[in-house]
Amino acid sequence: MDKLSQLDRRYVWHPFTQMRDWVRAEPIVLVRGKGAMLVDAQGNKYLDGNSSIWTNLHGHNHPKLNQAIERQLKQVAHTSALGLANEPASLLAEKLVKAAGLPLRKVFYSDDGSTALEVALKMAYEFTRRSGRSNSPRFLSLDGAYHGDTIGATSLGHIDLFHKTFSGLLFKTDKVASPACYRCPFNRVKPERRDARLYAKCNHECVNKVEAKLSKHKYAAMVVEPRVQGAAGMIMHPEGWLKRVSEIVRASGALLISDEVMTGFGRTGEIFAGQKEGVRPDFLCLAKGLTGGYLPMAATLTTKLIYDAFLGEYEEFKTFFHGHSYTGNQLGSAAALASWNLLLQPNNKKRRKTMERVLDHELDSLWALAAVGDVRREGLVVGVELVADWKTRRAFALKDRAGIRVCEAMARRGVLTRPIGNVIPLLPPYCTTDAQLRRMVRVLRESIREVLGAGQA
Ligand code: PMP
Repeated sequence: MDKLSQLDRRYVWHPFTQMRDWVRAEPIVLVRGKGAMLVDAQGNKYLDGNSSIWTNLHGHNHPKLNQAIERQLKQVAHTSALGLANEPASLLAEKLVKAAGLPLRKVFYSDDGSTALEVALKMAYEFTRRSGRSNSPRFLSLDGAYHGDTIGATSLGHIDLFHKTFSGLLFKTDKVASPACYRCPFNRVKPERRDARLYAKCNHECVNKVEAKLSKHKYAAMVVEPRVQGAAGMIMHPEGWLKRVSEIVRASGALLISDEVMTGFGRTGEIFAGQKEGVRPDFLCLAKGLTGGYLPMAATLTTKLIYDAFLGEYEEFKTFFHGHSYTGNQLGSAAALASWNLLLQPNNKKRRKTMERVLDHELDSLWALAAVGDVRREGLVVGVELVADWKTRRAFALKDRAGIRVCEAMARRGVLTRPIGNVIPLLPPYCTTDAQLRRMVRVLRESIREVLGAGQA
């Protein structure tokens, strides 16, 4: 084992990782990248099949992003946003507000997805109290929700495996059924219908559950990942669900917090996923792709109404008492501006559309495998759900480690992604070539066959 691997094993504790398993295997130590390709310390090449946990947009080592960061580096790397302004953060805020559209008018910067949610949560909490709607504001989120790992964001989450251990630390939030069509309790998708496109044919019976919940309490806000719930297993919501729910939330008097940490920046087709259904949230939380996947930075956009609730004379102490050392960091902002320019180039959208078509064509072949229960795609987010029995949709037990073993087999074949339980996500960077996309899906197919058998459905 080389020196770098040894150092890692001796000193580094990895996130969401069973370290007993980790130290048994030799880690992949990545040393450089170019486009969709990553290279390890031994010179092995890999395709970045999940855009480095859903962050990277335009590929690694992109000349435009590199230049923007280098240019900023020659000016200044970081100064505090506490009491001081800076150029790239101001320029970026204007671009974000203009792209998000009304009523979002103000940008509060922070460091990552979790803090973007934390900011929205605290603002919504305090706004709800100050507006007199409720003295003990409650929040509603979806079953399977994941909004980050800080205590507030964890409280909004509803994935028992991640969140139950910490329940003593968390505040209570309510959950409502997620429109997870593959396991729809109203049974709208019949077992023999192995085609996600049939999901659209429902009357959104699950929306009634949201309506019933919202009529029970005066919620401060409902928090949603629009159109795709990432960490829940790339759960893709049926067309129109978001629009209807946002109208119900609005009618109930609650605020809508839209977590676009994963779905933002073109990942689902439009710049922001909510725009696909014309939804206008009160908070828009952005991170991951904000800097093109280069640096940790986040933004919480909100309305003038919320902003105004924190205005007052100094001694009234209505200030929003929250902030981080690296808020509005210049290097991150410079990277974000460069990434933004690339994203808005007309050929970028065209390329993403082409990639969607290539993916559809390639993914079709997966339906033939008995171990594949569902193949979902929204924009450039793909979730392939592995099942023990496709007819009954019986899941593999977590201890079978089906998803982990398939991803290990993929890595051996040169494609990196990380499973979510039994779901294998593919989220290619937007620079991925057609040939690389075909390779990603071919490697996934071969790996499923190797690990779970070549049985046909
Ligand atoms: N919200 C969503 C929808 C996410 O997918 C994630 C991260 N996977 C987060 C919030 C938390 O982001 P971070 O890991 O940057 O804190």
